[in-house]
Amino acid sequence: MRITRPAPAAYRRIATEEAFAPKELIDIYRKILQQKTVDPGFANLMGFYMSSPSERARHIMSCLLDLDEQRIRHMDEAGVDMQVLALTSPGVQIMDRDTAVAFAPLANDLLAEAIARHPTRLAGMIAVAPQDPAAAAKEIERCVSKLGLHAVVINSHTHGEYLSDPKFWDIFEAAEAHDTPIYLHPNAMPASMIGHFLEAGLDGAVYGFGVETGLHALRIITSGALDRFPKLQIILGHMGEALPFWSYRLDYMHAATVRSKRYDAIKPIGRKPSDYLKDNFHITCSGMAWPQAIKFTQDLVGTDRVLYAMDYPYQHAVEEVHALDAMDMPAEVKRAFFQTNAEKLFKIAPL
Ligand code: MN
Repeated sequence: MRITRPAPAAYRRIATEEAFAPKELIDIYRKILQQKTVDPGFANLMGFYMSSPSERARHIMSCLLDLDEQRIRHMDEAGVDMQVLALTSPGVQIMDRDTAVAFAPLANDLLAEAIARHPTRLAGMIAVAPQDPAAAAKEIERCVSKLGLHAVVINSHTHGEYLSDPKFWDIFEAAEAHDTPIYLHPNAMPASMIGHFLEAGLDGAVYGFGVETGLHALRIITSGALDRFPKLQIILGHMGEALPFWSYRLDYMHAATVRSKRYDAIKPIGRKPSDYLKDNFHITCSGMAWPQAIKFTQDLVGTDRVLYAMDYPYQHAVEEVHALDAMDMPAEVKRAFFQTNAEKLFKIAPL
């Protein structure tokens, strides 16, 4: 069924979790996939998209690679005025340290060139290599000052390690100092975690991504990192990877666990877990074009912290734009959701 093109709206539709993959990235992935010790989650994720003859996989690869005519046409057909782009997951985080540190700036330069070709249609996020936190901090500085990029993407864990570990906090320090929010995007689960998900076919976007990325966000909260970097802003897709819905139990059980002194890792932190969700997080509806969940999250964290995203090309669904346009919501709140929250967070110039 052909879905009609959404009509122009009273707001700019800015989609904030949209993926791309330059050919140079796919070439590196092909080499990694040939290694005997390849990570099972990566092999299952990018191994599938890069080799499956299925229509879905071929469509996604074609869309990821294109930063010009096809992408802009798909945006026009979906009524998406602007995409905020990120190097597709796992970005450089599956690479060895030297390759990752060398490739991230190349990817960022390619992204900046695409944005320069389509300045009113594309914006983007900085890829960094957490494998070398000091290099990542420098790359954030370079991209803010030289390329005009104003957000960072981190594809969840890096070789099974989480940003809750203070060894990564150079990245938080740079992000806070440069006022660049960090989009904490899903990655395939680490090898130590994926087994029972993979055997059930539930490791990917259907459920596993949310579990793993939600865990990552929660680890950052309980580590105390947001007391150390109180202005840091983290963006979560997929309706906050379910954390808004968990807030009540997180607050209750976190407090009980702190009091019991049961775990070394659970120490007192400045506020309740849900307080950090309200002050240090923004949440997008990528993959979750569901008005009830959007309204619940707006009610919990505020209408200025919930944003539109499509998750192109993985969820390339024009009918979702129609559903979100039709949300029963005050006009100024809908405009914040689709447009002004993104303009502010990603420093996108209003037209
Ligand atoms: Mn995504």
